[in-house]
Amino acid sequence: MSHDWARVRADFPLLQREVHGKPLVYFDSANTGQKPAAVIDATDAFYRSHNANVSRAVHALGNEATEAYEGARGKLARHLNVRADELVLTSGTTFAINLVAYSWALPRLQPGDAILLTRMEHHANIVPWQLVAQRTGATIKVAEISTDGVLDLDALDAAMTPGVKLLGVTHVSNVLGTINPVGEICRRARKRGITTVVDGSQALPHMAVDIPAIGCDFYALTGHKMCGPTGTGALWGRREHLAAMPPFLGGGEMISEVRFDGTTFNDPPHRFEAGTPNIAGHVGLGAAVDYLDAIGMDAIAAREQELLAHLTEEMRRIDGLRIIGNAPDKAAVVSFLLQGAHGHDLATLLDLEGVAVRSGHHCAHPLMQFYGVPATCRASLAFYNTHAEIDAFTAALRKVRKLLL
Ligand code: PMP
Repeated sequence: MSHDWARVRADFPLLQREVHGKPLVYFDSANTGQKPAAVIDATDAFYRSHNANVSRAVHALGNEATEAYEGARGKLARHLNVRADELVLTSGTTFAINLVAYSWALPRLQPGDAILLTRMEHHANIVPWQLVAQRTGATIKVAEISTDGVLDLDALDAAMTPGVKLLGVTHVSNVLGTINPVGEICRRARKRGITTVVDGSQALPHMAVDIPAIGCDFYALTGHKMCGPTGTGALWGRREHLAAMPPFLGGGEMISEVRFDGTTFNDPPHRFEAGTPNIAGHVGLGAAVDYLDAIGMDAIAAREQELLAHLTEEMRRIDGLRIIGNAPDKAAVVSFLLQGAHGHDLATLLDLEGVAVRSGHHCAHPLMQFYGVPATCRASLAFYNTHAEIDAFTAALRKVRKLLL
């Protein structure tokens, strides 16, 4: 199906605005995505017409709120081809990975065990494991990458030694854009009895994700990068894992019965959703899933590949510009350096031209250490970006380059 991408773009109110008197070129979607009116309206409509707490009140509004919240869980589950009762709604990936770290790994790991991570992980898929390692005596191992930013699968294989109990791998790198072959990686890990946690934060915005086809044990995701509100996300976990995991946080909603001499816990996924959740946010995330599904993730992926090819070609023409990462399988995320220019200066001057890119370490210090740079600039695109914006961005880059050099 061919899409009218100009009409799709018009669904995003914020993209109509100007910055510093220039039309906004928003190339920071890997940081957080913009929201279509359908998502803003769904959140607004929830507060205007249905607001109540979930799973508590028997009154009409309470039932409507519970239906809307559980309905969103169902939409996300269908989108990922999983069961809704295996999907824990969280504030995002960070919470989701910490939930696995504290409820699955902490009670299981011991001295002599190892957690295998890759060089290209976000801090959210490093630091929780370091905290677990400190408390259990387990160690952290790292699978390296090539200078193109591609995981070395043979090295990864070799690193899957008998002590390795858990593998944490990102589906798509937030810095390099590399799409990792997570299905193949999880298959290899599974053969060795290694539990797998896939960080899907940067995959969900760009492509169709079928979790059973990947064959992982846990899949973490964040809603705000896939057109949903901030403070939303989920952890998918295999039923047998979730059923065996103790609660992460205690409180209301996650119990079955509380007595002072002992409390019994609710079944998953509610066992892991203590307290009042982000109800309106997840209703908005449900609307985001509907919105993405209506366009179609395959159409979105194809559109973004077209934009990425154009962007890469134009950036390669700029003297002194170095693109970091050159994986053959890559999402529309381009990290770059401009010879002689500091990343923050570059991003600041680009901002004055209306262009929003991120500069910094992108919560991936070990990856910066690998490339021997303190920071990069990153242009990250979404399906709502345009070819004209790419031209405006590269024109701005040329202008800024002249100013800085
Ligand atoms: N992992 C990756 C690859 C990310 O890009 C991000 C967000 N930058 C996270 C994890 C953390 O997501 P959140 O801050 O939404 O919890």
